[in-house]
Amino acid sequence: MTAVAEGGVAGLANAAVDQVRAAFQQWLADNADKLAPFRHLSTEVDEVFAALSRLQRLLYSAGWIRLGWPAEVGGLGGPLALRAVVSEELAAAGYPPPFSFGTQEVLGPAVARFAPPELAAEALPRLLRGDETWCQGFSEPGAGSDLGSLRLRAVDEGDAWRVNGEKIWTSWAQFADRCVLLTRTGPPESAHKGITALFLDMDSPGIEVRPLRSMNGDDEFCSLYFDDVLVPKSRTLGEVNGGWAVAMFVLGCERGAAAWQRQAWMRWRLGTLVTDAPSVSDVTAGEAFALVHCLRLLSRRTVRSLSAGEQVGVQPSFDKLMMSTAEKFLFDTALHSAPETLLLSEDGPARDWRSDYLYSRASSIYGGAAEIQRNIIAERVLGLPRD
Ligand SMILES: Cc1cc2nc3c(=O)[nH]c(=O)nc-3n(C[C@H](O)[C@H](O)[C@H](O)COP(=O)(O)OP(=O)(O)OC[C@H]3O[C@@H](n4cnc5c(N)ncnc54)[C@H](O)[C@@H]3O)c2cc1C
Repeated sequence: MTAVAEGGVAGLANAAVDQVRAAFQQWLADNADKLAPFRHLSTEVDEVFAALSRLQRLLYSAGWIRLGWPAEVGGLGGPLALRAVVSEELAAAGYPPPFSFGTQEVLGPAVARFAPPELAAEALPRLLRGDETWCQGFSEPGAGSDLGSLRLRAVDEGDAWRVNGEKIWTSWAQFADRCVLLTRTGPPESAHKGITALFLDMDSPGIEVRPLRSMNGDDEFCSLYFDDVLVPKSRTLGEVNGGWAVAMFVLGCERGAAAWQRQAWMRWRLGTLVTDAPSVSDVTAGEAFALVHCLRLLSRRTVRSLSAGEQVGVQPSFDKLMMSTAEKFLFDTALHSAPETLLLSEDGPARDWRSDYLYSRASSIYGGAAEIQRNIIAERVLGLPRD
């Protein structure tokens, strides 16, 4: 707390991680009244979205969300590890992650690295402030695991790209202001060598967004249809036909740093399980704890490597596999501990457990399916043959 009093949160950018952790814990305690409404959110997606944007603005205006981001993109500086501390302590105190937390870690670093500097400087602060949200337009019907076969076409029209085609499973696109979009700019057979990444305004003429209901009842996914959408060339991320590097960087962040936020949330959720389902066996809860803790150790290694500016290689594939293993086990444990409540009750906590249980099934699909992570580990770590 002393450091915050003396230099504000900005004064913490170069402080030790433990000092930042203590200062943020203190801030959370000092602001408990202001934060209390965020503990119990509505079940209506629109209201949740609005509340979590308010939470994000609060954390931004206090400076916490700006730690660990470079000054050029609206941050206060300091290592990436500071972002991990803020998201972890927020979850440990029982608050939900602001809506854009995941996007910040998945798409934010790619825009910071691959966008023209003036675009990154304009776009990142809006995301961090909670003024806008972004979505990830990668998957297509027929191009999910095999992303290199994507077909959404971008044709060179001088100052702009003309985009036509379709995306699917784009999470929360109905709320998004921008999209990191993978397009085919080379010939169809160019596979991963003919892809270009664009940073698209979602209100561009010619985009139709159709929400799709997922099994937990949320309209999370969307289909996107593009009909002669013009995207200025200045919105190109990275090199023309170099979009594969952007895609791999994004997926590394999604499997790596984002897993850290997930483990922090799972630790907190395990604590609430012991309260909500007192019949849970010590052995099973202990096993769930061990899995979540393994994820924590793996993910900590990745966050440390990223924070030190090192290449993480295949490391995030281990994190992603462990994340889905831990998440499924945790929510299987919840289901087996209180099946009647979880399946039939309409009270708030039961609905949350049910929704989280159903969503946990997706953890071995999004960000690259578990089988794909196993293939990566088999081929690139164990040296097994591709066939
Ligand atoms: C909750 C959720 C959110 C998502 N959000 C987004 C988003 O915001 N943006 C976006 O672009 N996408 C998103 N996705 C889509 C996600 O990236 C894809 O579902 C995923 O990449 C798998 O692709 P697919 O669905 O086409 O399945 P397929 O690739 O058709 O795979 C089907 C099955 O075959 C297996 N398989 C495929 N290839 C191989 C192989 N070579 N070896 C072994 N097994 C294989 C897979 O593991 C899987 O079990 C989301 C998905 C979910 C579940």
